[in-house]
Amino acid sequence: MSKKPEPDSFVTEITPRSQDFSKWYLDVVRRAELADYSPVKGCMVIRPYGYAMWELIQQAFDAEFKRTGHVNAYFPLFIPESLLNKETEHVEGFAPQVAYVTHGGGEKLEERLVVRPTSEAIIGYMYANWIQSWRDLPILINQWVNIVRWEKVTRPFLRTTEFLWQEGHTAHETHDEAQAETLMILDLYASTTERVLAMPVIKGQKSDSEKFAGALRTYSIEALMGDGRALQAGTSHNLGQNFAKAFDITFQARDKSVQHVWGTSWGVSTRLIGGVIMTHGDDSGLVLPPNVAPYQVVIVPIGRHNWRETVLPRAQEIRAELAAAGIRVTLDERDERPGWKFAEWELRGVPLRLELGPKDIEKSAVLIARRDTREKLGVPMDGLAVRVRALLDEVQNNLFARAVKFRDEHTQRVATYEEFKQILEGRPGFVIAPWCGSSDCEARIKTDTQATIRNMPMGATGAAPSGGCVRCDNPAIAEAWFAKAY
Ligand SMILES: [Zn+2]
Repeated sequence: MSKKPEPDSFVTEITPRSQDFSKWYLDVVRRAELADYSPVKGCMVIRPYGYAMWELIQQAFDAEFKRTGHVNAYFPLFIPESLLNKETEHVEGFAPQVAYVTHGGGEKLEERLVVRPTSEAIIGYMYANWIQSWRDLPILINQWVNIVRWEKVTRPFLRTTEFLWQEGHTAHETHDEAQAETLMILDLYASTTERVLAMPVIKGQKSDSEKFAGALRTYSIEALMGDGRALQAGTSHNLGQNFAKAFDITFQARDKSVQHVWGTSWGVSTRLIGGVIMTHGDDSGLVLPPNVAPYQVVIVPIGRHNWRETVLPRAQEIRAELAAAGIRVTLDERDERPGWKFAEWELRGVPLRLELGPKDIEKSAVLIARRDTREKLGVPMDGLAVRVRALLDEVQNNLFARAVKFRDEHTQRVATYEEFKQILEGRPGFVIAPWCGSSDCEARIKTDTQATIRNMPMGATGAAPSGGCVRCDNPAIAEAWFAKAY
């Protein structure tokens, strides 16, 4: 007998963030209608509101990829098992999470097919056919696809068995070109995440134990969530010649010698939506940066029983005016109390709420409520679109500044291992400490504190190590940023 899930109308409140962050997150995901559980274990349904956010994220990143010379393509979902097995480290890294297709068309397959956990293998195979000469290089291809990695513990957007992402795969003549591409993408990821999602990130290199299976070097962007845990928000890998050697991707170089290409791969996923929720949300629900808000403005008509006659026509005109100015706007015409509508749109994180009643129309003004500060402002209807656009920019900038402040307030540097362990008993955010480079040391730190090295920043953020490793006191190779992570 099948049991139908209870309608979740009983979920009238959201668990306060401070009380139970994890439950708060799940409440927000479901009540804001971003995603829902599905009958397939570990797989979520992305609902239209959540998918609209994904489309905005996609558009922003896709424009950046194209601006930097990349093109989109599509490779198959299925990968012959023998292909995945060609790069040893790669297959060892992914084997525990791989799903196989064993039957098709009512028959057992001669060779099992892997459902892509990532596409280096199938793309490497194709590149071997496509690349002959240095004139064919570089190849700069991206694809927007779904991925399957069998997960034991799942959480919507953060870790699901199937998820959506983009994966870029490039091939170059030299190591230095591949390295430049890897770091260019890391910069692109960081700036786009900060500009569009208002989510500040730390750019840096991963330790060997955290690098991508089969890569020479992995770099990541790491963000800090509202509960003090870090989120890896994107990765960029210099693959060296590992995949080129496994898949025999060679080219005739300018000096006529035959060489293996140098590769990179890089990805961001629907995980970014989880990052937005946990960076900006509050006890009332989602708080969306205008650049990823499906609706940047909601218009709520206020009035007595006859509001449809008195207020609605003017509200429709305002909607049209804002839409014509390129603002994503919706008009809530439902027969519900305004107070109920306010709570609903707050929960769904709409940056600006525009209230319009008979008195406002008389005064030729509207009332605008900001979701981020809850400030209310009277704004004249004359020049409304310009004012709304400016307010949206203010909200976007304020959310970013607020997140930077939170991140900085939750980042500290420690000197001794005692202090390190003590601080990590809570959920302090980032802890910066010198590290010796030994994976044994790193593993011991994880056992003692549950914290992992998120990355080792480069450039201005990455200070030269001072003193010895925080745990073993051997000479340090880097200042590492540690945190408990999603
Ligand atoms: Zn050490």
